[in-house]
Amino acid sequence: MKAILRSRAYRVLALETSCDDCCAAVIHRRQAAPPVLESHVKFTLNSVKAGGIIPTDALEHHLGTIPRTVQDAIAESRALAGPEWQLDLICATQGPGFFSSLAAGMQFAKGMAVALNVPFVPVHHMLGHLLTPRFFSGSLSFPFNSLLVSGGHTMLVHSRGLREHEILVNTIDISVGNSLDKCARSLGMKGNMLGRELHLFVGERDQISAADKSRYDEHFTMALDGYKKRVKAFSFAHYATLMQKLRSKSGREMSDVPLSERRAIGAAIEDSMFYHILQKLKLAFEDRPDVRDLPLVVSGGVAANTRLKKLLKEQIGGQVVYSDPKWCTDNALMIGWAGIELYESGFMAGADSLNASLDAIPRTSWPLTEL
Ligand code: ZN
Repeated sequence: MKAILRSRAYRVLALETSCDDCCAAVIHRRQAAPPVLESHVKFTLNSVKAGGIIPTDALEHHLGTIPRTVQDAIAESRALAGPEWQLDLICATQGPGFFSSLAAGMQFAKGMAVALNVPFVPVHHMLGHLLTPRFFSGSLSFPFNSLLVSGGHTMLVHSRGLREHEILVNTIDISVGNSLDKCARSLGMKGNMLGRELHLFVGERDQISAADKSRYDEHFTMALDGYKKRVKAFSFAHYATLMQKLRSKSGREMSDVPLSERRAIGAAIEDSMFYHILQKLKLAFEDRPDVRDLPLVVSGGVAANTRLKKLLKEQIGGQVVYSDPKWCTDNALMIGWAGIELYESGFMAGADSLNASLDAIPRTSWPLTEL
């Protein structure tokens, strides 16, 4: 397998299929100029009817969708680049994620790498999220901290280098995005990105009755106080129980609660979860004053939430950098960029390691600390 000559510009195709998003991207890595995203194509499995993501459905989605996703991404990039177009590197997510979903993407990518005789780089999904801001801003250098808040993850990470990551706070159960989705569903919402729907549903907070809000704040504050104040971990699973308690206390289904009150409930849920995140961030930085003043990169689907943004600005201060909301959810740009960084750091220096990467198999769980 031939390695890329690092002295020239090259083109990368990346696939992300760790969960229910089937994504492909083409990035043009230029010399002495910022990289260019030439195309990005994404097809998300519709899980509305199923009420959640079912791994076998996700696999079927990927098997049926990957070829045309890649085809579309290539066509778009080709049209942009002209006759000089060629692919020099292929990347795909290796984990963590659903085994079958990862396998579908990886095998397709490996097949392409073999057919084109170009290197294949397997990429850690979370590393992709962590490095995304560096694609857009060449000035963000190590070390920095990241708060990853999405449907799959909730963690505070301190990064010293490409492969040196320390998880300062992680969730002990489910992610904030997952919990927001579950609460939104209990409130009667339907759709794919329920956490986002919930945020839109809550709307302007000054339109919400203060009495309602404080009543529900009190209900959900139990969750905040209940989870041991000095424990450096996030926890969001108990919100499902709190929703259930609310239902039995009121003696009615949430869908029967008046709209204005449901908005107050939504606002109280968001605030409770976000204050919990802030509390744990403060706790982590109290223990680690050496990393406290570093830039904080906020990414993941929940990072686009304007309420969380406002609270972080008010309560954490310092330099807070946001990933563009478009690139906060799972995508292939992040995998392509992380693949480029890995490749250029000498990840695959010789012909042996180029071939060895073809032996890589999906890793359903893969701690960020084991890169
Ligand atoms: Zn993700």
